[in-house]
Amino acid sequence: ERLRGLLLSRIRDVPDYPKPGVLFKDITPLLADPEAFTALTDALAGLARERGATKVVGLEARGFILAAPAAVRAGVGFIPVRKAGKLPGATLSQAYELEYGSAEIEIHAEDLDPEDRVLVIDDVLATGGTAEASLRLIRRSGAQVAGVAVLMELGFLPGRTRLEAALEGAPLDVV
Ligand code: 5GP
Repeated sequence: ERLRGLLLSRIRDVPDYPKPGVLFKDITPLLADPEAFTALTDALAGLARERGATKVVGLEARGFILAAPAAVRAGVGFIPVRKAGKLPGATLSQAYELEYGSAEIEIHAEDLDPEDRVLVIDDVLATGGTAEASLRLIRRSGAQVAGVAVLMELGFLPGRTRLEAALEGAPLDVV
């Protein structure tokens, strides 16, 4: 609870960003505070260990910032899930629906083994579309899903509901 209080106090609400009517949760004040960033990193690394993760996936772009130090701290590998066209090697791609239109994300599947248990990390769970698509990529690679961990869940969007089926019983943790 102390941890949550510290973390939430370092998140800045930005009204009307990136468009009118949206209240954007800005994590840059948290990243700039070494006590908060370290505490978050330790909490995410603890979750990775608890969930028996052998790899951590970070979702572009803010997920990278949180997942990479957590992977190092947990002593497991880091794997980026990127927007389409950014990874140079052989990729698996997954398209998903956005509020308006669609998006596509990719992974280097060769960096995952069937024995791997993967924890997906991102900053914010909004509609859940990105996290859901990342779980599909992990399953299609043949690896197992250890869970999803996020810093924040936007409660007014049905992200948790959308993710539920794709989790197949794996946990969704909010730090
Ligand atoms: P979803 O696919 O769950 O709708 O959107 C999640 C993605 O959008 C995440 O990668 C997250 O970084 C980004 N996102 C959506 N809303 C916010 C927000 O208010 N603050 C931040 N930091 N990211 C957001």
